[in-house]
Amino acid sequence: MAHIVVIGGGPAGLAAAEALAAGGCAVTVVERMPTIGRKMLMAGRGGLNLTHSESLERFLTRYGAARPWLEPALLAFSPDELRNWAAGLGQPCFVGSSGRVFPQAMKASPLLRAWGARLAEQGVTILTRHAWTGWDGPGRVRVVSPQGERVLAADAVVLALGGASWARLGSDGAWTGLLAGAGVDLAPFRPANCGFRTDWSDTLRARFAGTPLRGIALTPEGGGPTVRGEAVVTAHGLEGGAVYALSALLRDRIAAEGQARLMVDLRPDMTEAALAERLARVRGRESLSNTLRKALRLPPVAVALLREGPDAPPRDAPSLARLIKAVPVTLTAPDSLDRAISVAGGVRADAVDARFMLRALPGVFVAGEMLDWEAPTGGYLLQACFATGRAAAHGVLDWLQEGGKERYPSCP
Ligand SMILES: Cc1cc2nc3c(=O)[nH]c(=O)nc-3n(C[C@H](O)[C@H](O)[C@H](O)COP(=O)(O)OP(=O)(O)OC[C@H]3O[C@@H](n4cnc5c(N)ncnc54)[C@H](O)[C@@H]3O)c2cc1C
Repeated sequence: MAHIVVIGGGPAGLAAAEALAAGGCAVTVVERMPTIGRKMLMAGRGGLNLTHSESLERFLTRYGAARPWLEPALLAFSPDELRNWAAGLGQPCFVGSSGRVFPQAMKASPLLRAWGARLAEQGVTILTRHAWTGWDGPGRVRVVSPQGERVLAADAVVLALGGASWARLGSDGAWTGLLAGAGVDLAPFRPANCGFRTDWSDTLRARFAGTPLRGIALTPEGGGPTVRGEAVVTAHGLEGGAVYALSALLRDRIAAEGQARLMVDLRPDMTEAALAERLARVRGRESLSNTLRKALRLPPVAVALLREGPDAPPRDAPSLARLIKAVPVTLTAPDSLDRAISVAGGVRADAVDARFMLRALPGVFVAGEMLDWEAPTGGYLLQACFATGRAAAHGVLDWLQEGGKERYPSCP
């Protein structure tokens, strides 16, 4: 029986382990943290958006430039299959109003518990508090645990160590040194689904850091889609769903031009003319804050945003209405990599073959966020991690079947 070592106990690694065990392999999962799936548990705090219910054709477009090389894996383990899989673990899903798919429990812990139990039934060994540190000759994986160093013999290895954000949950991107040293082509990490920095006034920062701007619409100046939703004012800028949806575009624009401007529509459901008419009805001796509250029910954080420009907000109703429809916010940099929901960069598409096997290291397969793709929030991240985990496992099974190990005796 072939013995496969899977490194990383996140969704990609566990999906690979499950498929490998089902394929008849003995499987050991190596996880550096005390428990598996920490980032998935964190995703569960937001309800665990597992996947999306839109048409498969539209779904696939979300992976942008990475679509061609991810598509076979996503077709082989589609959003419907992921939902069935979750239901099979006692976690049926529902479709939220935005089309996003969540387990009914709206958290990850019951799913992870049931999954861990199934893996144990399949005979998968999970070594927690074990960190992969490199190779010890062909087919020998070096790991370090509190008990000291150990070497695991492997017929093939699946790497699923995650990206490089939220390092405290386990994925710190330190694997790049090991793979670059072995000649694997890597793209530098960039934050994806991230917040941005801007120079708020001290007043806005002190009074409103952490406050959501609800029911707004964001449009990047200079071209780009308008996204409705919520943004949150942070001490140094803006984050939240609507910002994340534009983050790849904004990040690349800042990289090219040094900064990017975002136009915030504080009342996207009303036309400029309607706003002006309402404002004209209230204004008079009222203060700006009172006028905006009475006429438009604008919350204090929105009023503060209107005051952020170099000049005081205009007094006349038509000009004020124009500003409410497009408050400019200049973004100077993406927020730190560690705060990003996910990362772009990692193992480049041409560094792996169609089975997700590293061309530079035959017998070593890669899955999940380690691979150089990005997608918006909406369940696309977890779906691709599950799908590439399974695809890498099937890649291992095919490779073993074809005698790959015998043909590449020098594989690590
Ligand atoms: C706050 C937050 C909310 C999110 N919400 C959603 C959501 O709702 N929907 C969605 O689709 N996506 C969401 N994501 C993204 C999603 O959680 C990740 O894309 C996904 O977990 C990545 O899976 P992975 O298996 O590739 O890596 P990870 O989940 O990061 O797992 C990698 C594992 O490898 C381990 N590891 C790393 N280095 C070593 C080593 N040297 N030795 C041994 N083990 C190692 C790590 O400890 C970790 O457990 C969210 C992310 C965050 C941060």
